Amino acid sequence: MLSSAPPHPIHDPEHEHSNGCCADPAVLKSRVRGSYLGLAIGDALGATVEFMTPYEIRHQYHVHQEILGGGWLRLKKGQVTDDTTMALALGEAILATGEINASAIAAAFDAWMRAKPVDIGHTVRSGLMHYRRTGKTTAPEDEMSAGNGACMRCLPIAITTLGANEKAVRQASKIQAHITHNNPLSDAGTETVILMIQALFKGQTLNQQLHHYAHPLAAKYPQFYFRKRPCQNPSGFIGHTLRVVFDALFNTDSLEDCLVEAVNRGGDADTTGAIAGMLAGACYGETAIPQRWLKALDAKIQGACTAQAEQLLSLRNAASEVNWE
Ligand SMILES: [Mg+2]
Repeated sequence: MLSSAPPHPIHDPEHEHSNGCCADPAVLKSRVRGSYLGLAIGDALGATVEFMTPYEIRHQYHVHQEILGGGWLRLKKGQVTDDTTMALALGEAILATGEINASAIAAAFDAWMRAKPVDIGHTVRSGLMHYRRTGKTTAPEDEMSAGNGACMRCLPIAITTLGANEKAVRQASKIQAHITHNNPLSDAGTETVILMIQALFKGQTLNQQLHHYAHPLAAKYPQFYFRKRPCQNPSGFIGHTLRVVFDALFNTDSLEDCLVEAVNRGGDADTTGAIAGMLAGACYGETAIPQRWLKALDAKIQGACTAQAEQLLSLRNAASEVNWE
């Protein structure tokens, strides 16, 4: 049996008033659009150096900071990978149904896989094959599935559930995540990234983020501890991924520097770039994105990201209005 839809995101007026979220709709829109563009740009930038070591990157590029395409996937300049296209598939399923519905999302991911994406992770493939075989929208719990595949595509959940209480946000995150990644470490990392993006949308500072989210996550799960030794050449393990992302986010003060820092660590660089991009875009807003990166990004993808960012924000606003009554 397919799992049923969760309730609409629950609006939390008390929270809203206390943090001033949406006081300026133009600022919120810039952060939401910036976050979606940051995801795509980080993905396109990082894909060139995916699976390279930091040493190899230095040798070839000195510092890798231009969107060039290429890489092991032989991408066109400005092309993105599964990180961005799975997020778009997730967002389309939310927009089509007006809710975070496990069956609709699983069907959208399955259609995405049938369309032969340029790249697909092992856990994503096996989770979707499980769905095809059984119709079930929750993959079996697996201690080996602590990959970053659920986290890389989580942005539509962050936008749609903005203003909901934390429990509802975590529940919504698991609905999309567990289709392929049913793992407590993946859950903890993904939910933290969503809560961080939402707090940044609301105007929280990076210093507050460090104390409210990153340090508590690392205290609970030492796999995320990022302070002592920088993580180089990160694998697809969510612990490695977020150590690089946190290091890049908290040790830089611009979107550009954050993304350059993340992808030059090599390894799973498209995904560290994508997640760092979502967070940095939410933090610094659309105007912080360098023009040369916007120009290089595939125009169709760019349009799809900004359109979806605004449509999901409208859906969230509509849901909020309903719940106000
Ligand atoms: Mg990828």
